[in-house]
Amino acid sequence: MRLRNKPWAKDKIEEYPQYAVPNPELNKGKWDEVFGNNNPLHIEVGTGKGRFITEMAKAHPDINYMGIELYDSVIVAALDRLIEAELPNVKLLNVNAAELEKYFAKNDVDRVYLNFSDPWPKTRHEKRRLTYKDFLKSYENILVDGGEIHFKTDNQGLFEYSLMSFSEYGLLLKFLSLDLHKSDFEGNIMTEYEQKFSEKGNRIYRCEVKYTN
Ligand code: SAM
Repeated sequence: MRLRNKPWAKDKIEEYPQYAVPNPELNKGKWDEVFGNNNPLHIEVGTGKGRFITEMAKAHPDINYMGIELYDSVIVAALDRLIEAELPNVKLLNVNAAELEKYFAKNDVDRVYLNFSDPWPKTRHEKRRLTYKDFLKSYENILVDGGEIHFKTDNQGLFEYSLMSFSEYGLLLKFLSLDLHKSDFEGNIMTEYEQKFSEKGNRIYRCEVKYTN
């Protein structure tokens, strides 16, 4: 993701607390109150410009969605989408996914989506990969028992690493596609990166894994 400095981004985010939740640590354990219902909560970690989360929220009005993104300069693009779409079931958190447990309690989240996560190919950066074991532990600590991670990427190295990491952690593989766009998988919603990389001819890998606790 190329980052452009947007000095106005923070102010814009603060203008829309109905979409970009301020002080999210205050809602830990009570996200139902923020959404005004007790529908399941699905989060996308590393949401980028928010196309996936917005389109999922349109397609599934009975599920609450939350996009988590580190950079304010990126999340403002997702915010623009939400302002335009005026959906009641999707919100954004401008926070670092390394601190998810500050914002979510056990059982707050029903599913984690990881889409085109940064690959961090150097071994010395392994801990930054969103499928590293410490992240898998933090997802477990906020998910319901039997919660799932749905992961897609065009990066073969990251996909293979992640399958190993899921397996070593004891996650159960529920779905696997080594070429999503040529498979019969229905209801795929493309992310910004997915569109870009599939147009270049890259194949898209996808899996669903489940905690067995
Ligand atoms: N999911 C989007 C898509 O598929 O189009 C964006 C993919 S982009 C390659 C990865 C995104 O994850 C970037 O916007 C990056 O800032 C975000 N990200 C990476 N590490 C993160 C972290 N620790 N916490 C929150 N966001 C993170």
